Amino acid sequence: MFVLLSVTLCFICYLLCLKLIYNRFNRLWPSSWNNILRSSSRAKGVNLLPIRDPIALTCENDARVLFVTAHPDDECMFFAPAIIKLTELNATVYLLCLSSGNYYNQGAQRKEELFSSCAVLGIPAHRVTIIDNKELQDDPKTEWSISLTAPLILKHITTYSINLVLTFDEGGVSGHANHIAIYKSLSHLAFVGRLPEDCQVLSLHTISILRKYLSIFELPISWLIPSSFFCILGPNEYKKAKEAMLHHRSQLLWFRHVYILLSRYMYVNTFRAVPMEKKKVRFY
Ligand SMILES: [Zn+2]
Repeated sequence: MFVLLSVTLCFICYLLCLKLIYNRFNRLWPSSWNNILRSSSRAKGVNLLPIRDPIALTCENDARVLFVTAHPDDECMFFAPAIIKLTELNATVYLLCLSSGNYYNQGAQRKEELFSSCAVLGIPAHRVTIIDNKELQDDPKTEWSISLTAPLILKHITTYSINLVLTFDEGGVSGHANHIAIYKSLSHLAFVGRLPEDCQVLSLHTISILRKYLSIFELPISWLIPSSFFCILGPNEYKKAKEAMLHHRSQLLWFRHVYILLSRYMYVNTFRAVPMEKKKVRFY
């Protein structure tokens, strides 16, 4: 009886801890977003006054955000928290998906599913681009060429005057070679100084499989580990992420339903900044 009471008490304390972190996040979210935008503006030489209201903030700063993914459903499975939080702020959000996900010859259907999913997440169809190139096929064993992907991504960034890019990190979240190839392309562009001065790149933290399937209960760990950018979904926002994921009908095998329920990426996103080459610095 005592053990049961102790476990229940610990569980209630843990739930209270989650609630406290969520409330704290909501208080810090506008300034966190402000910091991200201000670092872009500083690079461009624009000084911004601190802004408390997140809606006013996005209007004044013209946030233009690009998510770069590899397959239809990546936007839901991995980036839903960030996409939902940014579209709620009225940021202009674009999605560039580098393949149609044709591994099982379902490319045409998956393209349609991606547009439906994006509509739920808040990205209109005219801001969604799906690349269908025979050299960029969905295949976990194929290493996409940087010489092919980097110019495609760079063209998108310059065409739409993007000032924030969000994508995978070197672990690709799931270790998929196509995800990792995108990170390599963007880190290459950043390293050689090819990105516009006011554009910064954030990469999504790859976490261990144990943390990955702790669902929202993983939140305190993410909160304690330093990150450049942090997004947490509330209950109604999570419903939106789930609804978007359900539009990927071709992918809804039983384990995807488990993923929707248990994956921490459906609730929390943490990003770190990809180091940028300073164009005006000379090395001898
Ligand atoms: Zn993928």
